[in-house]
Amino acid sequence: MDDKEKAPIDLKAGVPFDSLREATPLAGTVDGEAAILVRRGKEAFAVGATCTHYGGPLAEGLVVGETIRCPWHHACFHLRTGEVERAPALSPLPCFAVERDGDLVRVTGKRESAKPGVRRQGPGAVVIVGAGAAGAACADMLRAQGYSGSLNLVGDEEPGPVDRPNLSKDYLAGTAPEEWIPLRTREYYETIHVDFHLGDPAVALDTEARKVKLRSSKQLSYEALLLATGAEARSLPVDGVARPHVRTLRTLADSRAIIEGAARAKQCVVIGASFIGLEVAAALRRRGLDVAVVGPEAIPLARILGPELGSFVQKLHEKNGVKFHLGQQLRAIREDRVELGDGQSLDAQLVVLGVGVVPRTKLAEAAGLKVNNGIVVDERLRTSAAGVYAAGDVARYPDPISGELARIEHWAVAERQGQAVARAMLGIGGPYRDAPFFWSQHYDVTISYVGYAPAWDGVEIHGDFERQDGAAVYRRGGKAVALATLGRDRVSLAAEVALETGDLNALEALIARQ
Ligand code: FAD
Repeated sequence: MDDKEKAPIDLKAGVPFDSLREATPLAGTVDGEAAILVRRGKEAFAVGATCTHYGGPLAEGLVVGETIRCPWHHACFHLRTGEVERAPALSPLPCFAVERDGDLVRVTGKRESAKPGVRRQGPGAVVIVGAGAAGAACADMLRAQGYSGSLNLVGDEEPGPVDRPNLSKDYLAGTAPEEWIPLRTREYYETIHVDFHLGDPAVALDTEARKVKLRSSKQLSYEALLLATGAEARSLPVDGVARPHVRTLRTLADSRAIIEGAARAKQCVVIGASFIGLEVAAALRRRGLDVAVVGPEAIPLARILGPELGSFVQKLHEKNGVKFHLGQQLRAIREDRVELGDGQSLDAQLVVLGVGVVPRTKLAEAAGLKVNNGIVVDERLRTSAAGVYAAGDVARYPDPISGELARIEHWAVAERQGQAVARAMLGIGGPYRDAPFFWSQHYDVTISYVGYAPAWDGVEIHGDFERQDGAAVYRRGGKAVALATLGRDRVSLAAEVALETGDLNALEALIARQ
């Protein structure tokens, strides 16, 4: 019998306490349910073994203090309570009762609710504008932290908060059903007593009177307000861009429209060799379309990931049948083809633009908030207006790693900022210091990126990307500021911790082991 066939450890039967290695999860089961047991000093904690975001294996995660971080997308949970500490998970883990019996430690069974029954007063009324990643995460965290006051969530996108990253990945490829896409439902908001105004967007903000006006003319008063209006897909000023077979991708409706267009198309041209453009290319190859990608750069993603990793991603797509037209500008989009700057013409019955996003700052600008390529916020995500916070793609905040103002367009960052705003509104949060994290998926390869390096002066390559076992380290002034990894999830997690704590020695020691 090899290791894989071994019966799982029955944590209810107990294990010797001394056999538990400090901060090293032991996987097992409790009444048939997968759980992990983690020793911290003289105590041991047991929680569910599977991340509530995408089902990542927490036994392979990283224990930091009394929390555990998921290896896949860096969600973080409290070991003592199972509660979510950080996105991208929004729901807690099941939590189990643990007993010491002499030398043995036993998991005795599930705890009904491990949640501390704290009630927090917080602001008299909270309004959240934007029911996307940041807005939804803020609403959840306010309630999870015991806020029981009035909570209005204003959304402009059917069907409510969606798992946006999936819209260019499995859902678009046809390998994830639509029922996976909604993050939260209207019924859910009823159960947590959130007034969800869907399809009635905010049209004006009066920061003196502390009121938000909706399109229906309804007025919502707030003591604390979160602006989480996100971003919208950029278009291009080229001839033919308004044709019906030309699509951008931000919403579920956009993804559905691309799927419909793909059903009628044989050839697709993706404009923009960006993360989203390339993910769309991969998804449409899965659907059997001929896909060409057009971009002005020489190597896709090189500006962000460096030439080595960018070339690896390009080759991966080429192996999967994508044709690249790089160093090219788009001249025009015709009914059945696109025309490039050098005179080439590519047949296309479907064209997808993946050329970046523009932050949705109109509401904030009209209200006189400080806006400069995003709503400017401080380290507690407070805008220039009293009681008003901003988070997610629309917020420009001081990045603690670089010290620069950063507007970051990552899913986990938006959700974590939404969670941080909830804590700040309740007076329980400190400055926002999380290291930015994102992932991008191309076929069976996932790239994880932690840190912030809008510009770097050197990239160090470790390992072998072809074997999906490598890391790229981005340096600025000699200092490591970001890491991209393939197949080295624990390294990505450890780098996240080092970047957040500013422990450069730990970071260099980690890099030296690569
Ligand atoms: P959003 O999620 O865009 O939410 C903003 C919401 O505000 C929207 O619903 C909008 O309709 C609403 N709104 C705007 N104005 C108003 C108004 N006046 N009144 C009411 N509501 C309003 N990131 C990653 O890290 N990894 C990935 O793999 C990844 N994949 C992606 C794939 C796709 C297809 C897209 C589009 C993005 C992807 N991202 C990914 C980026 C990530 O989704 C965004 O960074 C994240 O959604 C930003 O969250 P947000 O809350 O700031 O904005």
